[in-house]
Amino acid sequence: MVECSYERMEDKIKTFSKFGDTGKGGITRFSLSEEAIAARCEFVKRMEAIGASIVTDDMANLYATIPGTEDLPAIFSGSHMDSVRQGGNYDGILGVLTAMEVAETIVKEKIPHKHPITVIVWTNEEGARFEPAMMSSGVICGKFDKAAMLASEAKDRKGYTFSQALEESGFKGEEKNRMNPAKTKALVELHIEQGPVLEAEGIDIGVVEGVCGMINYEFTFIGQAGHAGTTPMKYRKDALYAAVKTIQYLHDELDQLDSKLVYTTGKISAHPNIHTIIPDEVKFTLDARHQDPEVIKQVLTIIKKIPSVVEQCKVSYEEAWSRRTVSFTSKLVDYVEKSAREFGYSNRRIYSGPGHDAQFVIDLVPTTMIFVPSVGGHSHCEIEYTPVENCLKGANVLLHTILHIDKE
Ligand SMILES: [Zn+2]
Repeated sequence: MVECSYERMEDKIKTFSKFGDTGKGGITRFSLSEEAIAARCEFVKRMEAIGASIVTDDMANLYATIPGTEDLPAIFSGSHMDSVRQGGNYDGILGVLTAMEVAETIVKEKIPHKHPITVIVWTNEEGARFEPAMMSSGVICGKFDKAAMLASEAKDRKGYTFSQALEESGFKGEEKNRMNPAKTKALVELHIEQGPVLEAEGIDIGVVEGVCGMINYEFTFIGQAGHAGTTPMKYRKDALYAAVKTIQYLHDELDQLDSKLVYTTGKISAHPNIHTIIPDEVKFTLDARHQDPEVIKQVLTIIKKIPSVVEQCKVSYEEAWSRRTVSFTSKLVDYVEKSAREFGYSNRRIYSGPGHDAQFVIDLVPTTMIFVPSVGGHSHCEIEYTPVENCLKGANVLLHTILHIDKE
């Protein structure tokens, strides 16, 4: 079976690691920054060298297409090149590099294919500089309002908007170049798992079935401020104590649900946050994720059982945001599994906890994803790592998934 090249894969990873190199093993490559533009230029140079034609759309999404032998819709693959601050060399970029390697293998090995193959680079997936995350896939898939996105202000430079960064980037193209569902056969995005499951189980390839649904709730506890030295315990309305008891209740109850449920209280604030004053207002969040909407419903039932008064403090809560479980195209999921099996790579089906551009694309065209293991489960940090050997296995599965799609 035809395979991608280890040497080329390694070279790609090494080369792109230079764009935004922090000197500590990671990168800071914010969307449309100087470093990101340098990475885009390298992408364009390499794709043109294998005969790809390059276009960008009005959100600076970048498309490199090698023609097929017939006038058919294109098969898409790719991901994002931007990173979080002090992020790693694999999140997003590996999906671009493996797609490039697949295109290069197809060209160099003269593998016949009917459909054009397009490598796509999505603009601003991380939302680390301009909010929100998955901005440009969101705009072209109808999830976000373009005008609101253009007005998004940079977190690192006051008054500087996404619109200005776009104008100055040299990569702003025309709306007519957007991924068009009528001219797109399918999209396959390879990504690192960003969690510890595949590595812990000794699995080469994650066959991604979808993206977990999630809910995010914010809880507020209102008590009464008072002097820490004068207010006897029985007279207190301590909002922090009420919040802590509620967090404990949530953990005790949520732990009884399905073991695949993950939940997090990642944000908490106490007012006035002074060591001599009893807290009068405390807020915390609860993020809960599971692939089965029924389990998410059970989480809601547990939330609704929280009394309106805890430790004499008033309790309220509201949904900050949520997302429904996304299921990828089953035929494509099967192709990924089949391709992994053909190579003898160990594989398992898995749901993604994090969000990805592909979860928006599924609304427009048949879509799926491939995961490769993240060493130690680390991601969004400089020690993020996937050995070249695993990256290559991912590229091989991507190559053969695309070839299976091409044969339809
Ligand atoms: Zn990513």
